[in-house]
Amino acid sequence: MEKVTKSDEMNPLDSLDQWEDALLSRYPDPSSISQDKAAEAFRDYEKTEKSAVKEFYRLQHIHQTYDFVQQKRAEYLKFDRLEMSVWEAFEFLNQLVDDSDPDTDLDQLQHLLQTSEAIRAAGHPDWMVLTGLFHDMGKVLCLFGEPQWAVVGDSYPVGCAYSDKIVFPEFFAGNADSTNPLYNTKYGIYEPGCGLDKVTMTWGHDEYVYNLLKDYLPEQGLYMLRYHSFYPQHRENAYAHLMNAHDKEMFKWVNLFNPFDLYSKSAVAPDWKVLKPYYEDLVAKYLPAKLWF
Ligand code: FE
Ligand code: FE
Repeated sequence: MEKVTKSDEMNPLDSLDQWEDALLSRYPDPSSISQDKAAEAFRDYEKTEKSAVKEFYRLQHIHQTYDFVQQKRAEYLKFDRLEMSVWEAFEFLNQLVDDSDPDTDLDQLQHLLQTSEAIRAAGHPDWMVLTGLFHDMGKVLCLFGEPQWAVVGDSYPVGCAYSDKIVFPEFFAGNADSTNPLYNTKYGIYEPGCGLDKVTMTWGHDEYVYNLLKDYLPEQGLYMLRYHSFYPQHRENAYAHLMNAHDKEMFKWVNLFNPFDLYSKSAVAPDWKVLKPYYEDLVAKYLPAKLWF
């Protein structure tokens, strides 16, 4: 299979998984922390993380300006690129092949299935299983030619001050919005408690997949899709001042979802042949036969 993700100046990560591995070292599963290692050692992200991840965030923080996001929204949220069935879409997504160790890395569908299967095993509603299956479908943006920093990475609001609780906050000094008085105050272009629906987030796979599926899933699932990479809020609580009461209620679902995304990875691949009939029924229950990307 052709390798689509390649390291270069604009794409410092060997694979998109490198970002997710970095998340794991930043937010280790408390139950997986061995007793002889202090939790603090795991949290010392900056000391241990690879330079590729740091370079990735440098690029993300510099380039994700309010204008950049508006431009990408106009370009992609028309969904006029190509029409695919759900299963064609998974095949398409799987063209994203990692440069890292092929023995331990699973393809994109495997991460999605591990997430959805963990949700199913925990007895959650079927729409949440479907949400798990789809949550990273937005990574198709890489295949449409977007750089890694416009697809993955922590998401956060643009149009107001960047929180110092976002990973590597020092890199925002290179973002043009940081010196723009319209955007560099606590609230920027927003009103206190205005609600996240009025807030423009960084451009990436979360916002894309939310828009892709917004007519088909319950609101709780849509929050999970849209904010699953919003670590600055769901882990750091850095943007509560922009949220309304409804967002705060809905973030209970985002928090419920996060561990299934982050901690369900295992080297054992789910058996797609066995699982396929269940997922075909599930997809048919909620989604149309084809989707426009
Ligand atoms: Fe994701
Ligand atoms: Fe994921």
